[in-house]
Amino acid sequence: MSLRVSLVLCAVALVGCSSAPTVPAPFVADATFSPSTLRKDGIERLLAGNARFVSGHAHGEGRDAARRTEVANGQHPYAIVITCSDSRVSPEIVFDAGIGDLFVIRTAGHVIDDHALGSIEYAAEHLHTKTVLVLGHERCGAVGAAMQGGELPGHIGSLVTAIAPNIKNANRGNDAATACVKANVLATANALRHNQPLLAELCEKHGLDIRGAYYDLDTGAVEVLGEAAASPR
Ligand SMILES: [Zn+2]
Repeated sequence: MSLRVSLVLCAVALVGCSSAPTVPAPFVADATFSPSTLRKDGIERLLAGNARFVSGHAHGEGRDAARRTEVANGQHPYAIVITCSDSRVSPEIVFDAGIGDLFVIRTAGHVIDDHALGSIEYAAEHLHTKTVLVLGHERCGAVGAAMQGGELPGHIGSLVTAIAPNIKNANRGNDAATACVKANVLATANALRHNQPLLAELCEKHGLDIRGAYYDLDTGAVEVLGEAAASPR
């Protein structure tokens, strides 16, 4: 049984059972969905929103009761954003987005585990979101810890273990911290592009667009990192 069929059946079963509790968002089937509603300008919308944020002219649209009602029974986020849990990098604020606009996955250092991967696959395969942005940021503590190495308590070390291979070959010149953050972004984006079985096929055959980007904490600006460097196929 394909993931798509499984998810649809799962959602239909939940919706069809009157005694079932409220279906937790975002795993709600949307019977009104049509491929014609797909947004293919995700990167442009993200960057336009970021430009408003940087200039101090964020409009904050789509955060009111009307929008809440509009998307209560179905979502069509125009982008999947995978970023760090850092409190200074909130995607809806950085991209001046509203409710239902972004499907967001956050872990420290945007480390991808199976749960994160499944979440990305769900949005790409089931919600048909065509744009994926992996967003690293200036002065990332998780990447900094991976640069330092050494033992860390609890499960924090698992983050360092995941990030370390991504920054191993980063150019540690004048600005090693930035180079390592960008290397971590590019490695993550590249790994997603080639991830089997779902994401690689969605990229190859269905135009899933996975990009890497860097967020400047000082200016608020998001820089999309080069396609060539990000996609060494
Ligand atoms: Zn971070």
